[in-house]
Amino acid sequence: MITHVSRRHILKQLGLAGTAALLSPPASAIFASTSKKARILIVGGGYGGVTTARYLKRHLPDAAITIIERNPIHVACPASNLVIAGWRPYITLFSHYDNLARLGIRIIHTSITSIDAARRLVELDSGEKLPFDRLVMAPGIQLDWNAIPGTENGRHQQLAHAWIAGHQTLLMQRMITSLPAGGTLIMTIPPSPYRCPPGPYERASLIASRLRITNPRAKILLIDGKKSFSKQRGFMAAWDELYPGMIEWISLEQEGPLDHIDISTQTVHTAFGRHRADVLNVIPPQRASQLAAANGLTDASGWCPVDTADFSSTLAPDIHVIGDACQAGPMPKSAFAANTQAKVCAAAISASMHDQPLTPTPLINHCYSLVSPQQAISITGIYLHDNEQHQLKTISLTESTRSDDRTAEANQTYQWYEHFRQDCFG
Ligand code: FAD
Repeated sequence: MITHVSRRHILKQLGLAGTAALLSPPASAIFASTSKKARILIVGGGYGGVTTARYLKRHLPDAAITIIERNPIHVACPASNLVIAGWRPYITLFSHYDNLARLGIRIIHTSITSIDAARRLVELDSGEKLPFDRLVMAPGIQLDWNAIPGTENGRHQQLAHAWIAGHQTLLMQRMITSLPAGGTLIMTIPPSPYRCPPGPYERASLIASRLRITNPRAKILLIDGKKSFSKQRGFMAAWDELYPGMIEWISLEQEGPLDHIDISTQTVHTAFGRHRADVLNVIPPQRASQLAAANGLTDASGWCPVDTADFSSTLAPDIHVIGDACQAGPMPKSAFAANTQAKVCAAAISASMHDQPLTPTPLINHCYSLVSPQQAISITGIYLHDNEQHQLKTISLTESTRSDDRTAEANQTYQWYEHFRQDCFG
């Protein structure tokens, strides 16, 4: 059952002093001295992958841990909405892999092209094959353009999504500055599940905070594939107060699903309506990465089914899947969730290598959303794997209320971001 209580109360209920206690592996595992010389490969150097590597190194100091990541620098999605709205420089999104290398974690910057689960081998872009004892997949998402008629067959390349950070973040930023005076920005938002459920609404808020100064007659139209959205009350209250009349939300109930997009005229067609944009931001539906899908790790949902006790794939032995790519029941797809899942997965791999029983650990997702550069709202979910029903259950879900101090929450957002980056990348 979901109850609405304070975060302090939740932690007290669980008998835990704070999130550090929730997220840390058991001391017995950290100080284990008997770790085998295991070969553990991690696919993806995003939040899930790097956290797994760092925590595995603590659990299994002698193991050979390798991350395979195609990009030389990590560009963050969290805080990218601040960059899009021109409140932060792009470079602040970068994280480097040097601190992981200093811990003795090997990082290979290349792409994995295939996985041979039976022979426990992965093949790299170069054709080289690497063996593994355990494989942890944290490859993130792919964008499903085939789900939006009008954008398939490569036509989407003319569109801005900015849902994978990098050059798309800069493209979106430029498009905001090119919005004509009094023009309309349309953002299409996919049905759930997708990466960062409150992300589109944070983006709308931060763009509004910029346009209020540079283009006060501009409009932001959100065309949503859902009937409701994460932190809806908090966002809508903030929009009324801070940007009256600027942001309009069109729900699935009002106009039905997205029908198609006419890129040549920048027009979004829903089941019952039609809207022309001056600037278009299309956030498409998503699925687990191409690598996971092509190697038999996804089911009909498009995501990777896992046993949430240890994040092992239910479709392939000795392979774990964490982060956005996996189906973790009620847990949203976020960097915070990927980081928590990584810690549970690392502890579980260590326990199995030491022939120790698995201790059930609560998983946490704490998600801040900026409604302006100076104000934020948040939501906290706590989840626990139910051994009898073999699924992750929500223990509590708490949202900030109208009386919460949004300025204090914004300060916490910025502090969280810095600490979180360190916890992941060192
Ligand atoms: P990713 O971070 O996507 O990492 C996957 C990595 O795998 C990538 O680096 C990719 O290059 C690599 N990879 C994939 N395939 C291969 C291959 N074949 N070979 C080699 N490498 C490969 N979350 C929060 O918690 N808080 C926030 O405030 C927040 N804000 C967000 C704002 C926006 C605008 C967006 C879009 C997302 C936001 N998120 C936020 C969500 C967060 O970014 C994701 O949930 C998170 O990145 C998921 O981590 P991951 O490790 O699963 O995947």
